[in-house]
Amino acid sequence: MLSQLLKAKRTSFSSLARCFTIKLPDEPSFLEQVGLYFDQAAKFTDLPQGLLKYIKGCNVVLSVKFPIQLTRNGHSDLHVIEAFRAQHSHHKLPTKGGIRYSDDVCQNEVEALASLMTFKCACVDVPFGGGKGGIKIDHRKFTEEELQRITRRFTVELLQKKFIGPAIDVPAPDYGTGPREMGWIMNTYTAYNPDDINGHGVVTGKGIRQGGIRGRAQATGLGLYFAVRETMNVEKNARSLGLSVGLKDKKVIVTGLGNVGYWAAHFFNDLGKSKVVGVSEWNGAVYNPDGLDVEALLEYKQKHGTLLNFPGAQNIPNPDDIMSMDCDILLPCALEAQINRTTAPKIKAKVIGEGANGPCTFEGDRILNEKGCIIVPDLFANAGGVTVSYFEWLKNLSHVRFGRMTKKHEENSKSLLVEKLENKFGKKFTDKEKKLIIQGAGEEDLVNSGLESTMVDSFKQIEDIKNTQKITYRMAAYILSIKKIALSYTDVGLWP
Ligand code: GLU
Repeated sequence: MLSQLLKAKRTSFSSLARCFTIKLPDEPSFLEQVGLYFDQAAKFTDLPQGLLKYIKGCNVVLSVKFPIQLTRNGHSDLHVIEAFRAQHSHHKLPTKGGIRYSDDVCQNEVEALASLMTFKCACVDVPFGGGKGGIKIDHRKFTEEELQRITRRFTVELLQKKFIGPAIDVPAPDYGTGPREMGWIMNTYTAYNPDDINGHGVVTGKGIRQGGIRGRAQATGLGLYFAVRETMNVEKNARSLGLSVGLKDKKVIVTGLGNVGYWAAHFFNDLGKSKVVGVSEWNGAVYNPDGLDVEALLEYKQKHGTLLNFPGAQNIPNPDDIMSMDCDILLPCALEAQINRTTAPKIKAKVIGEGANGPCTFEGDRILNEKGCIIVPDLFANAGGVTVSYFEWLKNLSHVRFGRMTKKHEENSKSLLVEKLENKFGKKFTDKEKKLIIQGAGEEDLVNSGLESTMVDSFKQIEDIKNTQKITYRMAAYILSIKKIALSYTDVGLWP
């Protein structure tokens, strides 16, 4: 537990795997792709065309440009920063979704990601509309002080346009951002709104001391583990792929050893007893058919800035090539479009768990389905992050640490947990440390069990639709989400 907490601190979203983004002129754009999935799924509903059109489109997008004074090569000048925030759907409020910092940020991508957030939240019954934001910068090229100024200025832009607030629109970490950026956003928001008693709920994915929640850092990876576990526990699925039921001994390849990829690899090894045989990063991949030590690999990456030359493993210099290596399960956890017209035909995995948003292009998805693969789709598979964001938001609004009331649980777990950790670390903890461990464990246990039941419930709903309609999991998840969103509109009628 303690080691997980320590690791959660170490691997923030800022360390997400670098972009694999491939510009694919012969494939639909990301936004068109989400629209194509939506249209396919809509055919399985008997909803009116007008309502479907309203659910599909992005409600509102803010596009801003603001200046930042920067010094480069001894010369100080104004730099114009471009940024976006899309609110796809207001059928539930607030709208919710991450803010990413990447050179690839554009309106098309932000809208696509915001719409995925709408369907993702509906899929796992998280009562938010979908949103997404992005600043078009390569965060590696800016100092911490510059990033802070950019983040705070963007927050003010959002505030001025009423695009942020605990009841309006609640950002979270995404590619290139993490608890640090969320802290800056929250601090800027509360400086302008000192009387907002719910100010801490303006962002999620914060550090624990800023009102964050234990379990948020690992939530997407853990949720992905639950999603694929449920899929592989269905006997019919395993049999159709010629695999045994469950995750035990399955060979797993993970693309992107960032926050999502690392935690997914950790849980597949630790809880699933699978064997992580390959991992890629933007600058190279490593493969070992006997299994990789994921914890050692993470430390190696942090020390050397690359996975290449990791002791005992085979180097794969072109990261995309890892996807054509032998394995049972592939977990794409980097950015979108890694699995496309070119890479999909070479994939050997039979199960794909989409840790990233949109990792398969429309064409990639078609090719994999034709090969008989089972794809656990992004809108369900990576919904663990926003699920635990919801818990964090509830915690902020209720102004109480989860687990605080469960004194009995604290007493019960106290001796067991502390003893276990003391044995593990070979040292005695101080009373203060013991208190922190116990408090943290109570909250983390509640969060993890809430996440597990959310993923299991949602899987059952998707599985039902899949079996009735004889379609893919992706289609079933879209149908489930579209129907829920439609209901929340029809329940209240139209105004005016
Ligand atoms: N950026 C994450 C996602 O794409 C988390 C969003 C959130 O927690 O609001 O799901």
